[in-house]
Amino acid sequence: MSADNNPTPPNSEKKSDKPNTNRPKRNRSRNNRSKSGSNGANGANGANQNREKPAQDGAKQSPQQERNNRNRRSGRQRDRRKKKPSNRISEHFSKRDFACKCGECTKSFRISLGLIGALEMLRNSSEKRITIHKGYECQESKEKSGNFRRNHFTTGIAALITVDDMSIIEAFKLCEEIPEIKGLGADFKLNMVYLDTRKEDERSSWVISEDGSELKMSDDVRKKYLAD
Ligand SMILES: [Zn+2]
Repeated sequence: MSADNNPTPPNSEKKSDKPNTNRPKRNRSRNNRSKSGSNGANGANGANQNREKPAQDGAKQSPQQERNNRNRRSGRQRDRRKKKPSNRISEHFSKRDFACKCGECTKSFRISLGLIGALEMLRNSSEKRITIHKGYECQESKEKSGNFRRNHFTTGIAALITVDDMSIIEAFKLCEEIPEIKGLGADFKLNMVYLDTRKEDERSSWVISEDGSELKMSDDVRKKYLAD
């Protein structure tokens, strides 16, 4: 700011937030008015004036006040503009939720819109936050783990999740009501629910017991693991 923009009346007292009743001479303040008019042409003065106690003679605020108000205002504007870059891919999920967690790949990842849609449905029916523990997994990470089986994480159609304030059993049952979910597992070893949107007509579902064995869903398995 140039000194020109900070006119300090010769006889002004200490800086004060209160309206300056001991005002500088008339022509001086008219001078200020025209200057601040060109600086704050976007109507800031009017708004600020309403908030402050009006000076007795209805005159303008002291130059110090005007400066304070301008600074405060531009500070607010800066805060509003400082939004994080959007990572969002749907109403409740962001790219970060699905990104591969191997820590080595920073490549683009694949995630299916069908999977995101199914998760949004689950978000709506549960009305709880969903945490995605695993979404996309890159091919390198999968091979490193020694898993050569067909894996739906590498095609971006699978997720391992938990639902806030819900047991695995409750979350699994909510998932069962979403027809788009075609692969569904209650994983009691990881304490998470697995779901995918593979292209099949019939749903496959299973339980992974605490010792890690995979049990195809049946009435017995359901009774043993998924009873309320
Ligand atoms: Zn990776």
